[in-house]
This record gives sequence, structure tokens and C-alpha cells, in this order.
Amino acid sequence: MAGWKNWSSWGSWSGGLVEVAEMIYAYIDSEGTWFKSNSGAIAGDEYTILIDTQYNADRMRGLLSAMENKGLPDPRVVVLTHHHGDHAWTTYMLKNAVTVCHERTARMVESMLGLDPSMYKAIFPDLDFMGARYTIPDVAFSGDKLTLKSHGAPKAEVIPVGHTHTPGDAIVYVPDHKVVFTGDLVFYNVTPLAIDAHLAGWIDALDQLLDMDADTYVPGHGPVTGEEGVREAKDYLEIVLREAERLMGSSEDLLEMAKKVNLGRFAEWKDPERIIPNLERALMEISGIPPEQPLPNVMETAMKMGQYRQWLQSK
Ligand SMILES: [Zn+2]
Repeated sequence: MAGWKNWSSWGSWSGGLVEVAEMIYAYIDSEGTWFKSNSGAIAGDEYTILIDTQYNADRMRGLLSAMENKGLPDPRVVVLTHHHGDHAWTTYMLKNAVTVCHERTARMVESMLGLDPSMYKAIFPDLDFMGARYTIPDVAFSGDKLTLKSHGAPKAEVIPVGHTHTPGDAIVYVPDHKVVFTGDLVFYNVTPLAIDAHLAGWIDALDQLLDMDADTYVPGHGPVTGEEGVREAKDYLEIVLREAERLMGSSEDLLEMAKKVNLGRFAEWKDPERIIPNLERALMEISGIPPEQPLPNVMETAMKMGQYRQWLQSK
């Protein structure tokens, strides 16, 4: 299968390590597209709590040196918001840190230990997967929440939100500063990816986010936002579910159905081709197929994303 070129030439925003509240940082990727994810850092006197790693060794080194340049202490705890490689692949580079995640995320990581990320080169020829690999997390938690406290830093609550973007998503909430690291519950200016999702659960969790006493949301992809970014993610997912209901029962193939989806303003967001797996997932969900069941043929879905992209470019 031929790879796609120039598929994310739309806009960018300022990136780098930005302080969103006292000693609380967002590490923002200025593009936010496939594999270009954000991380977070909560700095204490003695160590930093890191939220999500980067997908390859180069990018992870970039994050660590940005932290060093700002004088942040070394990370000793890294929280994974979910199992996707762009948030979880380089934990092994943090020699002195304990990796913490929800037990469902730990199970997903364990099930994917044998995965060779270079297989994604077939779809993303321009990306570098050097140093990308899963490592078993050290601590898996269950229950309502896990509270972390680094000496000299505000408390951070790791709150699981159920099967949403993936089976085991968790957010990190810093109540004293009204900051939420949403992981991939929020994509902002970048199309959400629902390939492993339970859309109805995800929408409920976004309502939960809006009900929190918070005013700063650090998304998994895209610039830092307020409530508007959470609302936008919810609106997008609602459109996908609504359009899936409308198209359900159509005899056309997924690609043709996706072409009929009216994305409205979200057509301007990056990576619009994600409507292909998103619509496929939504159709499965409406048919009553459990969210744990993977898409039947991910490579075929990826191929259709490429075709959708070509169709967009030819319009
Ligand atoms: Zn993700």
C-alpha cells in the first residue's frame, strides 16, 4: 500500500513546554497530527510527575531536554493516560521513573508487547519509529482514582473514565489549579480518533469533564484550551454517531458512506480521513457490537483512509 504524502499541511500553533499554572506544564506539539502528541509535567521540589511519553526516542529526548532547560527535576513517575503508542512507547527511556496506568491500559500494553511499530511505516512513510516500543507498566491501578503527590507540588488525581477513546483512559486533574490533562479524550483542531473507542461512553466522559471545576484543558493533540475544546470534541463525536444512525443499513461500502458524512466545520480540522475508522466504529456500536471488539480489518480501514484523503484532494 502506498503511503500518504502531505496529509497534514493545515495550520499549526505554537509548541514546546508551556507553563499552564505554577509549575504545571503542557508539552505541546505544534502540529498535533498522527503520532504528534502532547505530554504534561507537574513539577515538585524533588521530582516531576510526567503525563504521557512521546512515540519515538528522538521526540522523547526533546521532551526531556525541554524539561531540563526549564530546570524541572527528573521524572520519577509517569502516568499513561491510555495505551496508544504516541503516548506510551518510550517509557523505558525514563530509567528512574515508575510507570502508572489504569489496569485496563496495562492489559492493553501487555497484549501489544510483541508489536513492531515499524509496521506503521507502510502507512506513515515519513515518520521515524526509532526507539518506539512498549514496556510493561510498573503500577496498574483500579477503583475511582489514584492521588499523586510530589513534594512541593499540588496533588494530582488520576481519574479513570471507563471505555472512552480506548478501553482504559484516565485523565489527570490538578484541582488546586483547575487544570485537566485530558489525554486523547480531547483532540482540539485535530480530528478525534475513535478506532478503539466507545463513542457513547466517550461523550458521557466529556460531559463529566465539563462538570469539573476546571478552566484549563490540555488535550492529547492540539493546543491548550478551555471548555470550548471539550465541547468541540463532544460535538464532533455526536455528529459521527448521528451520521452513522442516518447511514446505517446503507448498502454502500464504508468509503462511499464516509463521503456522504457532513462534517460541517470539522471538515477543516486536521486528519479528516479519520471519519473512516470513526464511522466504522460508530456503525459497529449502533449494531450492538461490544467496543472491546477490534475493527475487523485495520489495514483495509487504513487503505480506505488514504482513498478518502485522495478524494478530498481531488474535490
Ligand atoms: Zn490515543
